[in-house]
Amino acid sequence: MSARRPSHTDSDLIIGGAGIVGGTLGCILAQQGLRVAIVDRTATEARNAKAGDGMRVLAITPASKQILNAIGAWKYIEQGGIGCFRRIEVWDANGEGSLCFDSADLCEPALGYILGHSIIQSVLERILGTLAGVSWYRPAIPRRVNVSDDQVTVEFEDSRSVTARLLIGADGSDSKIRDLAGIDNALHDYHQHALVCVVKTERPHGNIARQRFLTKGPLAFLPLADPYQSAIVWSTKPEDAAALVALDDEGFCRELKNAFAGRLGDITWSGRRAAFPLGRAYARHYCQPRVALVGDAAHSVHPLAGQGANLGLLDAAALAEILADAMARDRDIGSSRVLRRYERWRKGENLAMMMALDGLNQLFANELGPVQWARNLGLDVVNALAPMKHWFMRRAMGLAGDLPRLARAGR
Ligand SMILES: Cc1cc2nc3c(=O)[nH]c(=O)nc-3n(C[C@H](O)[C@H](O)[C@H](O)COP(=O)(O)OP(=O)(O)OC[C@H]3O[C@@H](n4cnc5c(N)ncnc54)[C@H](O)[C@@H]3O)c2cc1C
Repeated sequence: MSARRPSHTDSDLIIGGAGIVGGTLGCILAQQGLRVAIVDRTATEARNAKAGDGMRVLAITPASKQILNAIGAWKYIEQGGIGCFRRIEVWDANGEGSLCFDSADLCEPALGYILGHSIIQSVLERILGTLAGVSWYRPAIPRRVNVSDDQVTVEFEDSRSVTARLLIGADGSDSKIRDLAGIDNALHDYHQHALVCVVKTERPHGNIARQRFLTKGPLAFLPLADPYQSAIVWSTKPEDAAALVALDDEGFCRELKNAFAGRLGDITWSGRRAAFPLGRAYARHYCQPRVALVGDAAHSVHPLAGQGANLGLLDAAALAEILADAMARDRDIGSSRVLRRYERWRKGENLAMMMALDGLNQLFANELGPVQWARNLGLDVVNALAPMKHWFMRRAMGLAGDLPRLARAGR
């Protein structure tokens, strides 16, 4: 496939940010035969050092698995050991209501997978390293973005620069590219921090992802490959998260067991802990001439349903599909006409998920008696209504909605 390109650009596209979304997009586009310049502020060695922490995991949907499989990443990720959940149990700490989802109800082998963030990251870098069209700029931080009629130039803080037909901002929630391009970002602070760590439990997790909604935020136990190990995502008030991070191991294990109502027995070991501030954000536009945003640069959501990276991977697959179609028709890949198709496709899908997660977070944080009663009733009603439950499940698994071809491959 050949792109219509002016001879004076260094690359066909620049991807700012080599995280999971930017890295995946880089693989897809370079595998389509494009020349891709990848920019990241982190040097390889720094990222490798950070990769050892193993604290952060991601719940990955079957749709994201398809995308990672299509670029040849899944077989390497699997070698690193993956958790798989066949059932999800959700319940409210302030009542009897509960909800469970089972993969057997949808005749699917799994509802999702639990992968180490750093494992995905290093596999993507390994694949990018084998692709001919990829050039790296790292460590490099964009300082200026200049857009002209037929190209975009990114100038870095160290005064190097690179030109292309299209610049893609995949540089996360604090996106510099979004700011340099002058795209507004609407922010909402949840006033919650998410504590993450890995723990061992007395009882096996049985490949069930469990989430207990506490008044200050949800607490999730995500099953890892080892039947006695789970990854914790505990969203709570910032000061409580800081206190939990500071506790000694014994004190933390005790607090965690209490907060989880002892569902998996004693917590027998806990690994290193860290806490991340939580916010919701969305860019007012996903594109402008010669610039497009993907992943957290375009939208950040609450982690309570493990959707952020999954939405970003769908962005990557959708944008790559639109760019491939544009090239097949000999259209300019940086033109508004092409990029607006991407915005129309992904913005509504992402906003709908963002609002649903926001609503859930608020609903469970409400201590008013009637609201507690209604939500417990709501959980039980949804649990009893198979079609509604299946609809939720298919949405959250990335099996419903307007899916890019890559996410449907093999289905
Ligand atoms: C506690 C927690 C749990 C989560 N759990 C899940 C989950 O289970 N499932 C899920 O799908 N999502 C989850 N998420 C969300 C998920 O982590 C993010 O949506 C995802 O990592 C976003 O990926 P990204 O590639 O868009 O951005 P990032 O991962 O932020 O990557 C951005 C990249 O850009 C680079 N960069 C940043 N700024 C610059 C700059 N100025 N110059 C150059 N390079 C730059 C960075 O070095 C990085 O490589 C969770 C989030 C949190 C906080």
